[in-house]
Parts: sequence; structure tokens; C-alpha cells
Amino acid sequence: MILAVSTLKNPSSPADGYRGRFAPSPTGPLHAGSLVAALGSWLDARKNGGKWLLRIEDLDAPRCIPGAVQQIQAQLVACGLSWDEELTHQSQRQDHYQRALERLNELKLIYPCACSRQAIANTLAGLGIKTPRNQEMVYPGTCRSHSLETNSPELLKTSKAAWRLALPQNCHIEFEDLVLSHQDQDLNIEVGDFVLRRNDGIFTYQLAVVVDDALQGITHIVRGADLLGNTARQIHLQKVLGYHTPQYLHLPLVLDEHGEKLSKQTLATQINTQDEKHALAELRKAALHLGLNHLPDGESITIAEWLLAATRAWR
Ligand code: GLU
Repeated sequence: MILAVSTLKNPSSPADGYRGRFAPSPTGPLHAGSLVAALGSWLDARKNGGKWLLRIEDLDAPRCIPGAVQQIQAQLVACGLSWDEELTHQSQRQDHYQRALERLNELKLIYPCACSRQAIANTLAGLGIKTPRNQEMVYPGTCRSHSLETNSPELLKTSKAAWRLALPQNCHIEFEDLVLSHQDQDLNIEVGDFVLRRNDGIFTYQLAVVVDDALQGITHIVRGADLLGNTARQIHLQKVLGYHTPQYLHLPLVLDEHGEKLSKQTLATQINTQDEKHALAELRKAALHLGLNHLPDGESITIAEWLLAATRAWR
């Protein structure tokens, strides 16, 4: 009998070269801001001869809009932003996030927390700490006992509490962003022990994005600067889970006339991709925002030709 000995490599390890991704939450169709993130990450992947993956971040079901996934895909196709490999949905990958949570439990790094937002606000107020509006409250560690235990796997599965990651005493994270250069954040001072699974059982963005980026072998994360404040948390989680840290590049945000980030909440209008002419006009606006000022502007150019020129111009 001949035994086939194969040295099976992890199909998506960083050794395979550049792997980027676009990871929209299906809270609505793409608007000018999300197109900038899609185009910037696509151009960076193509310029580097890499792969560009599309991941739907649909864990927070109450915020997802029916039909948005199909709309997003259709808009990307209309803009010529083709993705590699199979589309993934976070809602179908819960087992991976649960396993990561179990791993952190074995490491005695997580604990259940029953604090309501109001209770946290009261504790902070009692400590004389005021959280400015629009800013997250720094968790004061109320539910964290001095010596963390490994909780029973049963409790971890059935618990109706939120689960937080216990930060080490010194948790100062530094990284180099390809656009914004040196960044640092002290997680204890600015964030506190953060939630990995909410009390409604939903895994948080922080945990899911770190697990997916690692399991999909993502080497480069190109996304909007609104997510910059999450990066230190994600790098810390990568470290404790033993994952590779990708290279980060945060793109300038598109703001509305009030200086607010475009989002569904600020009623951003969806991009118009009804035909090639409109889709190209949207791409041109996104490219200008990305600093690509000298791309062909003729009427007769196709999207494919224009994207080729944009890829050449991307630095
Ligand atoms: N799902 C996030 C969003 O739509 C993006 C996550 C990421 O790129 O890390 O804002």
C-alpha cells in the first residue's frame, strides 16, 4: 500500500503572499464612504498581486438589513471590484469564535460580567470619571476578580452574561500604520477589559474580526480610519491568541457637510451603479478621495480600463 504523504500547508497562511479583504456589515447598501474602503483595499491588493476577499460581517443580526448583502455584491460587481475565493458570512462561522473564546478561557483570560451600561456609568461617576458623549466608557473592572479562573466549558456555552477579556496590567500597544505612521494606545486607560461575547450571545466585532483575519490568512488590512481606534484591541487579541498581526492601512474618511462620517445613521445615500457610466462616476469620486488625481477622465473608457490605470497609479 502506498501512503500519500502530503505536506499540507495551511491554505491561507501569510507565507502565500498578500491577502487583503473588504468586510462590510450589511446594514445597508454601499455609500460613498464604504466605496472608498472597498476601492482602496481592492487597489492595494491588486497592486501587490494579492488576493482580495469579501467577508460579510453580519453577526449583529438586529442591525442587518434584508437584501443588503445582495445589494453590496451587485454594487461591487457593477464597479468591477471582483473578489477572490468564496464569499464568507460571519453568521456562519460562530464555531470558530466559540473556539477562540474557549481558548481564552483555558488561558484564564476571560470572565463573565453582569454590569449594565447604567451600572458602569454609575461606577465611573462614583470614581469621578466623566465619559464625553460619543465616546465609549472605559470598563472599570467591576466584575473582574483578583485571580481569574478557568470557567467550566458548560458555563461558557450557556451563560447569559457578557464575557470580557482581562487585560494585563501593562497593555500599551504600538503599531505602524502605512498611512498614519506610528500609533499607540494604552488599552487599560482608553478601553478597559472589553467584551468578546455580549449578554445576548452575539460575538463582538473585535473577536470575530481577529479570528477571521487570522483564519483567512489576511496579511493586509486596508479600511476606513473610523476603525483606527479598534486596532490596538485587535492587535492585543492577536497576540494572546497566538496569531500573526497583519499590516494596517487606514484610509481617510468621507465626511458629510456637517463633518460627520457617512453612515446609515447619518442617512448616507447609496452609490448609484445603475449603469457603467454612473458606476464609473462613483469610482472616480472615490479615487479622488484616495488622492488619485491624475486618472483618465475620458467618456469612452471602460471600468476595467479605468481600474487598470488606477491600480498602476496606486502607491
Ligand atoms: N464590518 C466593519 C464595518 O463595516 C468593517 C470591519 C473591518 O474592516 O475591520 O465597518
